[in-house]
Amino acid sequence: MRALIIIDVQKDFLANGFLVVPEGEKVIPVINNINHHFDVVVATKDWHPASHKSFACNHHEREVGEIVEVNDLPQILWPAHCVSNSDGAKFPEDLNTKVIEKVFEKGTKEDVDDYSGFFDNGKLNDTGLHDYLQSKGVKEVYVAGIALDFCVKYTALDAKALGYKTFMIEDASKGINFRPNDVQNAIIDMKVSGIRVIHSRELEKVFSGDY
Ligand SMILES: [Zn+2]
Repeated sequence: MRALIIIDVQKDFLANGFLVVPEGEKVIPVINNINHHFDVVVATKDWHPASHKSFACNHHEREVGEIVEVNDLPQILWPAHCVSNSDGAKFPEDLNTKVIEKVFEKGTKEDVDDYSGFFDNGKLNDTGLHDYLQSKGVKEVYVAGIALDFCVKYTALDAKALGYKTFMIEDASKGINFRPNDVQNAIIDMKVSGIRVIHSRELEKVFSGDY
């Protein structure tokens, strides 16, 4: 069984959102075009309490982009984004959400961030995604969405480490490039870890085993 995991395609990461990922909206038509290829389609949502420690505004005299320690983990400070139940945490209207059978919320605990769709950054809590995929008999996962160099990358790395045959669909993902070359380096990290980085037009070839 093959699963598509759509990572954090949420209004706050798109144009006019609070944490804009350049060209983030370009992933939407690509994801809408490929979702029919998969047996299972799930999504993640960044879903933070307003008091979340990844927000610069929740630290005294700290700016967006600074790195602090939260519970012994390095934490990049972001603008407040994807607060649970806010408009910015919603899926954009043009994303086909009918095919999404389950949504996994991440970053729900105030004092730890979740870049991966599977676990928090301290690997203490899991989101239930792995159990769900196991219950569906999923062996192959295809990861796409936002941001390529953070949540897409860490989800793909965890999927691979959990034993899934793992693909990252590059044209269905966009990165933030918080540091120059983050996207390029994320792609290298994924490839080195045995994740196949593909273009959506290669899917049929991948499914037929020619890839
Ligand atoms: Zn977040």
